[in-house]
Amino acid sequence: MAVATSPFTEKTDEQKAITEMVRQFVDNEVIPIAEEHDHEDKFPDALVEQMRELGLFGVTIPEEYGGMGLDLTTYAMIVEELSRGWISVSGIVNTHFIGSYLLMRFGTDEQKQEFLPKMATGEIRAAFSLSEPEVGSDVQGIKSVAKKGDDGDWELNGQKMWVTNGLRSGVVFVLMKTDPKADPPHRGMTCFITEKEPGAAENPGLTVPPQIKKMGYKGVESTELVYSGFKCPPERILGGEEAGLGKGFAQMMDALEVGRVNVAARGVGIAQRALELALRYSQERKTFGREIAKHQAIQFKLADMATKIEAARLLTLKAARMKDAGERSDLEAGMAKLFASETGKEVVEESFRIHGGYGYSKEYEIERLYRDAPLLLIGEGTSEIQRMVIGKKLLERNKI
Ligand SMILES: Cc1cc2nc3c(=O)[nH]c(=O)nc-3n(C[C@H](O)[C@H](O)[C@H](O)COP(=O)(O)OP(=O)(O)OC[C@H]3O[C@@H](n4cnc5c(N)ncnc54)[C@H](O)[C@@H]3O)c2cc1C
Repeated sequence: MAVATSPFTEKTDEQKAITEMVRQFVDNEVIPIAEEHDHEDKFPDALVEQMRELGLFGVTIPEEYGGMGLDLTTYAMIVEELSRGWISVSGIVNTHFIGSYLLMRFGTDEQKQEFLPKMATGEIRAAFSLSEPEVGSDVQGIKSVAKKGDDGDWELNGQKMWVTNGLRSGVVFVLMKTDPKADPPHRGMTCFITEKEPGAAENPGLTVPPQIKKMGYKGVESTELVYSGFKCPPERILGGEEAGLGKGFAQMMDALEVGRVNVAARGVGIAQRALELALRYSQERKTFGREIAKHQAIQFKLADMATKIEAARLLTLKAARMKDAGERSDLEAGMAKLFASETGKEVVEESFRIHGGYGYSKEYEIERLYRDAPLLLIGEGTSEIQRMVIGKKLLERNKI
């Protein structure tokens, strides 16, 4: 779909080149296989290999570690393109991106040296784990505990839930309680860098149960992780034991802020694809003697869809650009995530309606989008939680 450029959505030459490359990859490789992989809930191994070759696992990792060293804004543009094809593909890079962000921002030099080069090439991929069976929004309520043994190593115990890339990842950034008596609880939480064998269900002290069956977001696995006497040396505390102990909650909340920009970009991407499908279908399908696109009711839908997508894209780019400029962007990331994920859901639903009965058929791509879009309302904080974040930050910035 042709969209006029504006100073607000303008891309640098580098951004143009990379998003064009990703768009071609998505059009040629992702969209043609997404339906089959979705229907069979099959992991796209071949796509992951191609993504490694394109360098997509190292987009934001500095060049000194073998990555591309690009900023969050460019990353958001890439995620929009990937999600336009299939949000599961962006899910494969998303937790990896959060893991590399955690290392770049808080890791010790040794931790960066150890993990970033292998992560930049996609040799190992990262997962990010906060949620538990009884806890999602209220992260301070986690129950998993790490205890220091007499030998100086930490022993991790607890059950984690909804870990995207839980099976195939080689490293999991996991939040544990290290001081269960801490008040407030977040002061007693620590992020551990836990390593495991990619693809292995059984690891010493760590079991990966069979993947959770989901309504959408198929292909990429979401799993539980059961830590049971998992041994972790102190060097695997994010930032080192001295600096990182008790800092895990703050570190992970910082990472969620960039994660929110990422989910916002996914909302824009899925909505963009839904609009493209609606534009095409509405000019092909005829009712009452003319293309349905000529009925004003359909045109109004298309107009609202396109308008919301532009607004969501602008909010997303604004939040990303502020973060890149080192400005505080918690409020903006919350707004972008809230608006773009709701836009993703709404635009997909409107496109589904425009498809009439065929929208309900598995023969049509919109059926997959309809099952995929709701995830964006939940991941990295639900819409209710975003509103709480936005409200709190608004009041903080406008104290009387
Ligand atoms: C496919 C998928 C992949 C995921 N991947 C990951 C991952 O990789 N890593 C990870 O750590 N987690 C992951 N998650 C978990 C996700 O982050 C949580 O599901 C999400 O944060 C919501 O938590 P919950 O499901 O426990 O819902 P709850 O927290 O139980 O919330 C239930 C409902 O209550 C609302 N609610 C909660 N508190 C309030 C409040 N104070 N005021 C008003 N309303 C409230 C919520 O908005 C929601 O509508 C994933 C989830 C899914 C579905």
